[in-house]
Amino acid sequence: MPDPLLLWRNPQTGFRRRLPLSKIRNAIAAKAEQKLNRLKPKSSPFIAVIDPTNACQLHCPLCPTGQGSEGRKKGMMKLDTVDRILKELGHTIIDAELDNWGEPFLNPDLYAIIAAFKNYKIHTAASTNLSFKEQLDPQELVNCGLDHLIVSTDAARPKTYQKYRVGGDFELVLENIKKVVETRKKRGSLRPFITMKFLVFPHNLAEQDEFNKLAHDLGADRVQFQAPYFPEKMIERLYQKITPEQIEKFARPKPKRRNCHWLWTGVAISWDGGVSPCCFGISYHSQFDFGNICSQSFREIWTSDIYQQARSVFLGKEPKDSRARFCFSCTHRGG
Ligand code: SF4
Ligand code: SF4
Repeated sequence: MPDPLLLWRNPQTGFRRRLPLSKIRNAIAAKAEQKLNRLKPKSSPFIAVIDPTNACQLHCPLCPTGQGSEGRKKGMMKLDTVDRILKELGHTIIDAELDNWGEPFLNPDLYAIIAAFKNYKIHTAASTNLSFKEQLDPQELVNCGLDHLIVSTDAARPKTYQKYRVGGDFELVLENIKKVVETRKKRGSLRPFITMKFLVFPHNLAEQDEFNKLAHDLGADRVQFQAPYFPEKMIERLYQKITPEQIEKFARPKPKRRNCHWLWTGVAISWDGGVSPCCFGISYHSQFDFGNICSQSFREIWTSDIYQQARSVFLGKEPKDSRARFCFSCTHRGG
């Protein structure tokens, strides 16, 4: 008997789709196993952060990629890695974010990667600087079915933009947003839903109203103001005039639970197949990978000793393995 379908709504885009009951059952089981602190969960993650590439053409001052900090070797995810991921996790993933440490559109297979995820009824989002010419094909973008395009813009004026998106071209970004909006309209499609994102700094605080207007005029669907996700001390060093209170109102809500949902409900997979428990700093370095999906089955990694050690942090245990210790000293814990 075929799996019954249930209506599921993505809270950010509002897009509804019919998901197989088995996906929803798995998500409920994963949340329950998180609550029970199961060290070897039977369920699988339903949120995935997949990094098509960790390379980027910009040099944003707070980004390790932009600053060339040493980390995982640079590269592009191959389609056979995507096939492996989807064979193992396509039947449980509900939402996938197709970006992490780089500019996803630099991967020439990005449109095919998105389409592959969509074949498994997965809601897809990609965060981009959109400051490029050749890599953007608006027709392909609409065809592949990307649900959510998040454009890091951070300014209403070119001079302000340049302060953080170093190496980017503000006018080109706006032109590209227009192209996507026009193509979407011509094709009668609602996808991709477009969010223009604004990381709040002292240098751009005054441009918020102007930014709202700009986004509206361009035809974007939503604006998102957000504090940068970096330690306050680091921000202070880079921007002497910062007062954290000024941007506090844009900060993400602090996680209520100490127990980190990522270890039961989500996973981050780098371009080379490296599996990390989440998309935070731990995934920037390959030496902290919990396993590799190109050479191991996901279930083997998910129930491995290292994953169990990381989950046992929430039972008050101090892990021995340096990779699991990342979770022990982590301040995000599910944020
Ligand atoms: S655009 Fe994104 S990936 Fe590129 S340097 Fe800036 S923050 Fe980093
Ligand atoms: S505890 Fe921190 S490092 Fe570990 S999975 Fe959660 S957010 Fe990631």
